[in-house]
Amino acid sequence: MQLELVSIGTELLLGQIVDTNAAWLSARLAEVGVGVYRRTTVGDNLGRIVAVLREALERADGVITIGGLGPTDDDLTREAMAQILGEPLVLDEGEAARLKAFFAARGREANERQLRQAMRPLSAQPIPNPNGTAPGLYAEWRGKPIFALPGPPNEFEPMARDYVLPRLTERTGGRVIRSRVLRLCGIGESDAEAQVSDLVQSENPTLAPLAKLGEVHFRITARADSPDAAEQMIAQMEHAVRERLGRYVFGVDETTLEQAVVQSLIEAGQSLVVAESCTGGLLGHRITSVAGSSEVFLGGVISYSNALKEALLGVPRAVLETHGAVSEPTARAMAEGVRERLGGWWGVGITGIAGPGGGTPDKPVGLVYIGVSDPTATVIRRQIFAGDRATIKYRATQYALWLLYQGVKHGGCDSLSQL
Ligand code: AMP
Ligand code: MG
Repeated sequence: MQLELVSIGTELLLGQIVDTNAAWLSARLAEVGVGVYRRTTVGDNLGRIVAVLREALERADGVITIGGLGPTDDDLTREAMAQILGEPLVLDEGEAARLKAFFAARGREANERQLRQAMRPLSAQPIPNPNGTAPGLYAEWRGKPIFALPGPPNEFEPMARDYVLPRLTERTGGRVIRSRVLRLCGIGESDAEAQVSDLVQSENPTLAPLAKLGEVHFRITARADSPDAAEQMIAQMEHAVRERLGRYVFGVDETTLEQAVVQSLIEAGQSLVVAESCTGGLLGHRITSVAGSSEVFLGGVISYSNALKEALLGVPRAVLETHGAVSEPTARAMAEGVRERLGGWWGVGITGIAGPGGGTPDKPVGLVYIGVSDPTATVIRRQIFAGDRATIKYRATQYALWLLYQGVKHGGCDSLSQL
């Protein structure tokens, strides 16, 4: 089966927003074996929307439209659909009642404009929208499915996932789809993919790599006759991936690296303190974004100047003068100093050059020293990160979290020197 996607909205053509919905949906469709041969973007103009839909429906086995279902005059998708089907728009009583109840619950009355969202072409069915007012629409044109979904991503994604994808997989054979994301850190996308290149060829379940900033994700998707069968297929693929790449996997689905670190510290009963220079508190921010981090995170020091590195962390002036603030001995003294002075089991020190200025041939922009210290040892890593200032700061915290995670998991800093 092959579909076309039609994104509707003048703001897309003007470059005011990026079509993230189409990209997201294309990836999901690929996972379930539905081909996307063309994607078209069209402005809020009835004649052009109808023309694009007609062309797409003649070429493809079905069409999914994105956007243009709201209550305003430039929301023309339902009119366009009615024209394609050659049907009048009628009020869907169920949706009208839902809209009235929605507004009544907020002490308001649904006006005529709002109620327009309950209109549908005669043969179309509304697609429930649990997160907004505009329902989607489903209809068939000469046996080909047309799905129309609203544009806001928090409405679009659940509707695509819970309504559209299951119906498409029914048409293509499998009855349920399940997916799981394995999250990896400490390995690049191409290295990771090279180790599972045979598994990436698998058609069901599929294994799809996705590079994220400082992480690699693998999405496993299975189609099967029952949820249990799909889960079992996923478990087998997950096992195969973990056999080769298990030491890089820190979590599944929505688990962030900072959550994995906090969880591992809680399990180990160990506390953490941080000393940050170039990351300016970002590491502490990421850790404290995790609910429950107060159990293990004591706090930290943002020691941006040499004076504060010396006064608050006890970095010796001689070290700063001889080696500089961005150096192995400074990172070591920061990690050890913050551990001792703030009294944590683990201490982290980060010092580097986030740029864009301040680089030299010896110490280029992106050079970061990361120190991790516990009662067994202190480990320092030297990294050169690519990217702009924000990216370098983020990558530095990502690396620190990764070191910490490995250290906690493997029983202490001592183990890190062997990794
Ligand atoms: P609409 O359904 O066309 O009224 O769009 C409502 C809002 O959804 C827009 O203002 C955007 O913020 C968002 N939106 C619409 N289409 C897309 C798209 N293709 N990708 C991402 N966001 C979108
Ligand atoms: Mg719009």
